[in-house]
Amino acid sequence: MTQPIFLVGARGCGKTTVGTALAQALGRNFVDTDNYLLTSTQMSVADIVAQEGWDGFRARESQALKSVTAPDTVVATGGGMVLAEANRQFMREHGVVIYLRAPAQILADRLEAFPEEGQRPTLTGKPITDEIVEVLAAREALYRQAAHHVIDASRSPEAVVDAVLAALQLSRA
Ligand code: ADP
Ligand code: MG
Repeated sequence: MTQPIFLVGARGCGKTTVGTALAQALGRNFVDTDNYLLTSTQMSVADIVAQEGWDGFRARESQALKSVTAPDTVVATGGGMVLAEANRQFMREHGVVIYLRAPAQILADRLEAFPEEGQRPTLTGKPITDEIVEVLAAREALYRQAAHHVIDASRSPEAVVDAVLAALQLSRA
């Protein structure tokens, strides 16, 4: 299999962590759409949102998705990538899409333990756990629609990588 593997899921579900380990396990390249945006624009997510609004950020995010999509890659996507129907369709058509699913409380615990990972404007201005519950409720159906496989991401990164490999019937390179 050379088609890209797209990882979708909420902030904190482990797209970057698991994606990096998965790419290593498969001898593939790892790309992160958030990171791509950062380096290609020299702006943080907060800067882009401040200057161009969330709509501007979403437009750049869709462009980033297309730019990073290539054979033999593992692509970690921004938490909101699935909001646009066009993005969901693009990922499904160009590769295999994995939803890394974890309960809100686990996501909140991870983001609270490593606040620097969560540095982007909050979507609602509410406490992090409340916000995660709301964001998950709004997006769960979209993550599922986008995904070919739903993987329990509440386990250790190694266990999640193994589960993804099993779902895709791939073995370590
Ligand atoms: P995402 O890219 O989906 O926002 P990250 O990979 O950046 O998520 O992970 C967010 C935080 O949670 C990081 O501090 C990371 O070390 C931690 N983390 C990620 N996956 C796991 C996991 N499976 N088990 C425990 N901690 C994890
Ligand atoms: Mg990430």
